[in-house]
Amino acid sequence: MMAVLPISDESIRQAAQLLFRGGIVAFPTETVYGLGADAFNPAALARVFAVKNRPRFDPLIVHIAALEMLETIADLSLLDTAAQKNLAALAAHFWPGPLTLIVPKRDRVPDLATSGLPTVAVRFPAHDAARRLIAAATGAVAAPSANPFGYLSPTRAEHVAEMLGAQVDLILDGGPSSVGLESTVLDLCHGNPRILRPGGTPKEAIEALIGPVLPDTAADTAAADTNAGLVSPGLLQSHYAPHACLVAHNTESLYREPGETGAAFLFFDGASRDAWLSAHANPAGITLAVLSETGTLLEAAAQLFELLHALDRPDITRIHAQLAPEEGLGAAINDRLRKAEGK
Ligand code: AMP
Ligand code: MG
Repeated sequence: MMAVLPISDESIRQAAQLLFRGGIVAFPTETVYGLGADAFNPAALARVFAVKNRPRFDPLIVHIAALEMLETIADLSLLDTAAQKNLAALAAHFWPGPLTLIVPKRDRVPDLATSGLPTVAVRFPAHDAARRLIAAATGAVAAPSANPFGYLSPTRAEHVAEMLGAQVDLILDGGPSSVGLESTVLDLCHGNPRILRPGGTPKEAIEALIGPVLPDTAADTAAADTNAGLVSPGLLQSHYAPHACLVAHNTESLYREPGETGAAFLFFDGASRDAWLSAHANPAGITLAVLSETGTLLEAAAQLFELLHALDRPDITRIHAQLAPEEGLGAAINDRLRKAEGK
């Protein structure tokens, strides 16, 4: 039977025991809630794929809780000198935190974790409970987001309980995720560093440290309608989607949108909501929500999945969402909104 337990020494010990025995445990991180399995246990990894209904071609992120663990799962000698330098700088600056690095994998990492790729995605999360759990287990916990594949990511234990419930052995409840968006995924294995997925570490911050990185857009276009030859499955076009039909609008098209009964509006900031309200006087039967009253990207990111979960009610059939400014965390917010569109 599934249990939801608050964070304590005892619940973390229990969760680590479950991981040692091949169990799967949902746990909080600063990005979103993860569905964790021992990264070295193929049977446990297979359960993660099954419970999420995640395609086997979509590799998992391996979470570590100490920098020394990196060398036990990654063969860094296979990186060229520039990549080694970038890795050292990025790890020193952004870890622990919402940045996932793609590095060459060691044989001991099961192929299931990496979907057969010779590389592995590694992250060192900042969340205290996540780190204590990983350290109390084998030191390497593979964890995708704790949601059914393609659906909204969970930023609360309640989201996990609703979406996966009894299929999970234990849910650790650490309250809402502070970043609220998945990690930025950065590939260091194929020449110039490339962002495979925008996320909680802004591109601008990465570039300030290591210089220009390639954007995710080129690969995005190449991957458009097919899974074949996908560089990274985070590039799938439909992802992070609510049950309701979501439409992503720029500010001008949002102001023109009158809405209809059963519609919800998700504004980026309070000023946009007020401007829309002054153009559309009578919003009866329409639900309004705002990512950040003051238009702060940090707050908007933290609220994105939270509000999309709240708006994904049976009586709401369409969500009109306003894109954020395309800078900093706004790029990651917009990536999620675009991929959530039109399901
Ligand atoms: P999630 O676990 O749902 O946050 O997604 C993790 C994402 O990281 C995957 O969907 C991939 O896009 C990316 N990823 C994981 N491992 C690799 C890898 N070895 N090479 C490229 N991308 C990866
Ligand atoms: Mg996910």
